[in-house]
Amino acid sequence: MRTLIAKSRVIDPASGLDEPRDILIEDGRILDLVRPGEKVADVAERIDAKGCIATPGFVDLHVHLREPGYEQKETIATGCMAAVSGGFTSVCSMANTNPVNDHSSVTALILAKAKEADLARVYPMAAVTKGLAGESLTEMGELYEHGVIGFTDDGRCVMNAAVMRNALVYANSFGVPVSVHAIDEHLAGDAPMNSGFHSMRLGLRGVPAAAEDTMVARDVVLSALTGARLHIQHISTKGAIEIVRMAKARGVPVTCEAAPHHFMLIDEDVGEYDTNFKMAPPLRGVDDREAVREALADGTIDAIATDHAPHEKLVKDCEFEKAANGIIGLETAFSLTWELVEAGVISEMRAIELLTVAPCKAFNLPHGTLTKGALADITIFDPKATYTFTTDRIYSLSKNSPFIGRAMKADVKRTLVGGRTVFARD
Ligand SMILES: [Zn+2]
Ligand SMILES: [Zn+2]
Repeated sequence: MRTLIAKSRVIDPASGLDEPRDILIEDGRILDLVRPGEKVADVAERIDAKGCIATPGFVDLHVHLREPGYEQKETIATGCMAAVSGGFTSVCSMANTNPVNDHSSVTALILAKAKEADLARVYPMAAVTKGLAGESLTEMGELYEHGVIGFTDDGRCVMNAAVMRNALVYANSFGVPVSVHAIDEHLAGDAPMNSGFHSMRLGLRGVPAAAEDTMVARDVVLSALTGARLHIQHISTKGAIEIVRMAKARGVPVTCEAAPHHFMLIDEDVGEYDTNFKMAPPLRGVDDREAVREALADGTIDAIATDHAPHEKLVKDCEFEKAANGIIGLETAFSLTWELVEAGVISEMRAIELLTVAPCKAFNLPHGTLTKGALADITIFDPKATYTFTTDRIYSLSKNSPFIGRAMKADVKRTLVGGRTVFARD
């Protein structure tokens, strides 16, 4: 069956294309990109995308789908629905489920549930260490054979440098990265927010930026030592960004991602103990936020990733110190990214690159382009649309977002995975 997406402007950073094109899809792949109005035969489905921009489907390197074990927060099906409604066609799922994805049986379960949901593509990441305990490595080879695309103890930091070194060496033998939640757990303790004026104002203990900077420095050194690919998750400090910039200049194989909350918000936004602003790493200061924005523009940061972290009401409606870390992000990431475009921080092309081809390159994923023959994973959005982000727009099982009630710019209108519409908004 042939599908035609007509009248859209196509932006494909992988090929540098930014022109009006009609996209012809056959058997789940891109058959051709034709000039608008050009005749094409045998079209069974026609999608009118007038006024919209069509891009490769967005790819999120950092999502917590919570299943197995925390189905009250999110299931693989609800998480995938949230993903496609936000324009994401592929998501990489973190390993801190219950049981932890440190065994191929858990990987197989995640893949089976994702197949059943049949919405976004799910790429599971496995744990680096058994039970995320930081001590002994998982059976990385076996996990890799069962379909994991990388390793991470996200939520925890691998504190033992020797364990981390071995993890890098093993992961590299399969050509996949180790993704790190780079926060020195001893320096950070269990402090609930960024260290600074606002932690003092609220009388809360603070996580110093140095807890992130020192661990990023260590891991960059280990990446240089082993030659293995390292990916820094949710980078949030000016210092850590500077270290990555230097490492890249020296040819160390490091990539990194930033989350929308770290380029939109600061510690001051915690206000009076609002737990929807509690995350790890915490919201930082103005200088850090500006450093993240600059690094998104200059290429030091490779990808925008959401760190989508659903939590039920119970674990957020409590004292700030006791509240769970994290916010949902799949449904707001695109509009927040587009705000950077409207603010002149990044170009349209760069914004789409950060959401598509760049994350694919970091993790070797076979997506991120609309060239002929590519899988037809496509996001169609209206760059002029405006809306208010309300809870009834949320497909995630959880509603823990600091952006509820916020006026948003640009909106995802349709998402296709393998040429099939999996989400449409009227
Ligand atoms: Zn993390
Ligand atoms: Zn995370």
